[in-house]
This record gives sequence, structure tokens and C-alpha cells, in this order.
Amino acid sequence: MFVDIHTHKSSNSVYPAIRNLTFVEAENLFLSNEKGLFSAGFHPWHADEFSANSFSNLEKWVNDNRFVAIGECGLDKNSQVSLEKQILVFEKQISLSEEVQKPLIIHCVGCFNELLKLKKEHNPHQRWIIHGFRGKPELANQILNSGCSLSFGEHFNTESVFITPLDKLFIETDESSMPINEIFNLISKIKGCNTEALYAGETLIKSFSIVSK
Ligand SMILES: [Zn+2]
Repeated sequence: MFVDIHTHKSSNSVYPAIRNLTFVEAENLFLSNEKGLFSAGFHPWHADEFSANSFSNLEKWVNDNRFVAIGECGLDKNSQVSLEKQILVFEKQISLSEEVQKPLIIHCVGCFNELLKLKKEHNPHQRWIIHGFRGKPELANQILNSGCSLSFGEHFNTESVFITPLDKLFIETDESSMPINEIFNLISKIKGCNTEALYAGETLIKSFSIVSK
């Protein structure tokens, strides 16, 4: 099964995908009967939109079974929002993730030291999935050793894919127009396995279909 762990598109792909929603989309979805798998969260670029009210909306959404992850959230050195504020908003989402027992889809640019520090401090039970990972194997190794998982899209460092264990390897389209099955093919060639062996996304999705019954 070609599970797309992170996309912004409402595609008519036959494969399961976790669609990341804006807050407007999340509220519309919440009020609708639309089925599917979704995620929502405060992106580090929009961490200044955090308020008691917007956070309680997020809490409301992620208690709905259709929302299977919180994110994308995280830290970005290029964000206009101060890193201090980004960390504060990210920590709120870490706590929420633990509370509702749903994983974090993490956007991290240039702040991996801070991210790994938070991972150590919070010692979360929920999975932390670093999405769109393009970093080098040295960084990949550090992140994997901390217990985080990596998600790869169309563009990635081959060596980093090679060293990522299958139980921590997720695959995504994000904004890419390359179909998810083609990205699975690229990754499976590097791993020297067939696409069915890339099972982490499928396991994650299945864990939710059990919970949501
Ligand atoms: Zn994204």
C-alpha cells in the first residue's frame, strides 16, 4: 500500500494519504461528513497565529478520528516569528500530541539542535516524523538515534534514505506532482527491496483505523 504520509493536495489518488489542512479547511472538514485522513497544526511560519482560541480549535479537531496527526509543526530558522515563540507553540503541540496520542508531522529547517533538545526534554511516547527530509546522512543518523522518524519526498539524499531503518521510513508527496507510487519506487530501489517492504506508513494508518472504530 502506497501511503502518502504528508500532502497538501486533495487528490483523487487511489492511495491513502494524510492531507494537511489549513485552519479554514480544518474547520470546514470538521463540520462536514467528508471521510479521509487529515492533519492540522501551527506551522512555524504561522506560530504568531497561536492564541487560546486558535489552540482550542486545534484541540477540537485533533480529537476527531479523521485527524490522525498534528502538524505540520516545528521550527524554522527562516520564519519571521522569533525562535522563542516558535518553541513555545511547538511545545504546546508536543503536549497535545501526547494527550490525544497522535504523532507529530514535523517541519524543521536549520533548527535540528533545538529540535533534538526538545525531544530529549519531553521524551514523548508519540512518533515524531520529520517530513521532507533532504539532509545528509550524518544529520539523519543523529535524528534517527534520537528516536525520530524520517519522511522522504521526491527530493532526498540517497545515502540518508539508505541508512534509515524501514520502521522509521515514511514517504510523502507534500507539494510534489510526482505520484506517490513513483516515489515509493525510487526509495525501494535505494533500499534494495520491493515497495511492499516500505511498510511504516501502512502500519501507522492501520493503527488509526483500529483506534477510530
Ligand atoms: Zn508540507
